[in-house]
Amino acid sequence: MTQAGEQGTLFVISAPSGAGKTSLVAEMLKQDARLGVSISHTTRPIREGEQDGVNYHFVSRDDFESMIARGDFLEHADVFGNYYGTSQIWVRETLSKGRDVILEIDWQGAEQVRRLIPECVSIFIVPPSAEILRERLTGRGTDAPEVVERRLAEASEECSHALEFDYLVVNDDFAVALADLLAIVRCHRLRMPVQQARHEGLLARLSGAL
Ligand code: 5GP
Repeated sequence: MTQAGEQGTLFVISAPSGAGKTSLVAEMLKQDARLGVSISHTTRPIREGEQDGVNYHFVSRDDFESMIARGDFLEHADVFGNYYGTSQIWVRETLSKGRDVILEIDWQGAEQVRRLIPECVSIFIVPPSAEILRERLTGRGTDAPEVVERRLAEASEECSHALEFDYLVVNDDFAVALADLLAIVRCHRLRMPVQQARHEGLLARLSGAL
């Protein structure tokens, strides 16, 4: 049960593509019912296997720009030619219900969120080596060389911002990386301000009535 006044914690998770971030976050959600993930809006085309409203809210550039003008986004960024943004209202309402929220966003979004919500917890995920990242991004060798080069350049740009984050998780063994992420979440739930809000009645009884 959550109590009045209890605020959830905002976890911002970034990674270069190929680090396994999306699979790790999906597993975190399965294992921890107190976590929710924000579904971003984007103008990028939908990919095969994706569903509107599940992976992203897919919108036109015009609609996205109207949302920017209305102040609908907590943060938004142009990530390699497409807009991506996080709904302000969903995040604030979910946190105010005492639920913890994960944002899967790029380093530019993370920078904006840190400025707006300084108590957020930011986590950067990396693959275990540059070679493995290169292998993952090169895929089966069916993509055009310029596409592969662009993907590698984008990944190294994302990685150049790793030091701005509070935590670093290396995704070598999936189970270990998952346990690391869940440990970070658990640790933050045990901090005194969070526990004080959650167990106010208990603390009052223990300190007043014994
Ligand atoms: P993809 O198009 O491959 O799903 O994501 C491309 C990049 O956009 C990833 O780095 C992802 O984390 C980032 N991204 C996804 N949603 C958001 C968002 O709402 N805001 C920001 N700033 N980046 C996002």
